[in-house]
Amino acid sequence: MIPYGRQEITESDIEAVKAILRSDFLTQGPAVPRFEEAVADYAGASHAVAANSATSALHLACRALGLGPGDWLWTSPITFVASANCALYCGARVDFVDIDPRTCNLSPLALEQKLEAAKKAGRLPKIVVPVHLCGQSCDMAAIHALSQRFGFRIIEDAAHAIGGRYRGEPVGNCRYSDIAVFSFHPVKIITTGEGGMALTNDAALAGKMALLRSHGITRDPVQMTHAPDGPWYYQQIDLGFNYRMTDIQAALGLSQMTRLEAYVTRRRELAARYDQLLRDLPLTLPWQDPDTHSAFHLYIVRLRLDEIRVSHKQAFESLRAQGIGVNLHYIPVYRHPYYQQLGVMEGELPVVEQYYREAISLPVYPLLSKDAQDKVINVLRNIVKT
Ligand SMILES: *Cc1c(COP(=O)(O)O)cnc(C)c1O
Repeated sequence: MIPYGRQEITESDIEAVKAILRSDFLTQGPAVPRFEEAVADYAGASHAVAANSATSALHLACRALGLGPGDWLWTSPITFVASANCALYCGARVDFVDIDPRTCNLSPLALEQKLEAAKKAGRLPKIVVPVHLCGQSCDMAAIHALSQRFGFRIIEDAAHAIGGRYRGEPVGNCRYSDIAVFSFHPVKIITTGEGGMALTNDAALAGKMALLRSHGITRDPVQMTHAPDGPWYYQQIDLGFNYRMTDIQAALGLSQMTRLEAYVTRRRELAARYDQLLRDLPLTLPWQDPDTHSAFHLYIVRLRLDEIRVSHKQAFESLRAQGIGVNLHYIPVYRHPYYQQLGVMEGELPVVEQYYREAISLPVYPLLSKDAQDKVINVLRNIVKT
């Protein structure tokens, strides 16, 4: 089976991990701040807080921004559940905004309409989480302008997008947001096994996230609410978690960072080749906003169902039966039983629903060979042409 995505681990990655295993620190030690600095430098943000997953980093981000009971967080339903679950962890409520039919990212137009209605109803969101689907940035300038008008904070779910660019600048620089979160799960652009990172230009938010990452415990006398009893003393000043990244993971991440640019280049080459070789088929290919430079974590095609004989389900089954590990990113979050039972949505979002009827993620990852990609193209061609 050709998977839709997978990691590359080199000998130098293995050596970097071995060196940590022989060192004094296994959990968060000197490699974690080195990795944080490397990612912050690359993305052009002032602060970075590594965590054991992007899910944890999203939770830290919501807590640092003060999300709690009575608050709302809005996001796109075309995302991994973690973009919404982070609000529920904080006791807040979630609502969903429709997507743009071309980029399939959260639509600034739908957002504006929903904000106007919410303002009248007195239930504006505290946080909006734009998700950079496939690694293509959302229209951040538009979303940021709305945040100024309606007074909400922005967490970019950039799990797909390290190495991507928006208006010529790296995703993660937080020019248009409070916090941006990367994921280092093995299918993502670079990996630490499990891992994530929150970036921000706000020192206070970074400090809060670092505190909550480690139980809410501080050893800094300045942060303590009363004087230390002695040199052994530390103080818990908030209810945090154990969301630390290990030095083993950070060393792997640092080693992977050296190939980030090459990975994105390779993904973009594969995407360009799909664009070229699939363009005569009854498919809608991924539209690229000229303001963006996608990292192509995913390459998603949409079936033009009125021009083909097979159903979405049949196309999927047939691709899988012929060894192509296609996937669907994503089942709209509000369709999951847990969210249905919460009664989050009164109706369906039309563009989201149409997307869900048509989308297929094709394999794209740096080690995908030309022959394997040709196989994907040929199998897909035979399915949609018959
Ligand atoms: C993978 C992913 C996450 C969660 O990342 P983890 O590191 O696995 O916790 C969150 N949001 C999106 C959009 C993702 O694709």
